[in-house]
Amino acid sequence: MFDPHDLLTRLGGLAQGAQLQDYGVSRMQLSRAVRNGQIERLRPGVFATHGAADAERDAARHGGALTCAAALRHLGVWVMSTEPPPHVWVGRRGRVYPHSGCRCVSHYFRTGRVRFGVVDVETALLHLYRCEGEESFFAHSSRR
Ligand SMILES: [Zn+2]
Ligand SMILES: [Zn+2]
Repeated sequence: MFDPHDLLTRLGGLAQGAQLQDYGVSRMQLSRAVRNGQIERLRPGVFATHGAADAERDAARHGGALTCAAALRHLGVWVMSTEPPPHVWVGRRGRVYPHSGCRCVSHYFRTGRVRFGVVDVETALLHLYRCEGEESFFAHSSRR
């Protein structure tokens, strides 16, 4: 039997309730862990550890994973002086959820696999290219 917090940490700090239930964690265990302050419910059916990065948690609240410049910054690919606005990959037919302080840009690109957290480097680069075009792509790269 998994401890909800340990399992969530193992899964990268962010997961859907259904995903956690696949490992045998019950809804009751999840709500108990939320009540005890071990984990946080970002929105119905989506949970996070307190250790998950703010940008990733916001992206998960919004409905997906961090992508584009913010993701590359997060992955340590590009060092940017300012925090870029969160671009969130919500999947091809992803649903966007309203949340407080939202300044996200939603992306529905077909490419990508990661549900929450940060997309991988290749996906983030491709999304950025489609999002901002060649010029921005190279402008960012030259700052490395
Ligand atoms: Zn948002
Ligand atoms: Zn973008």
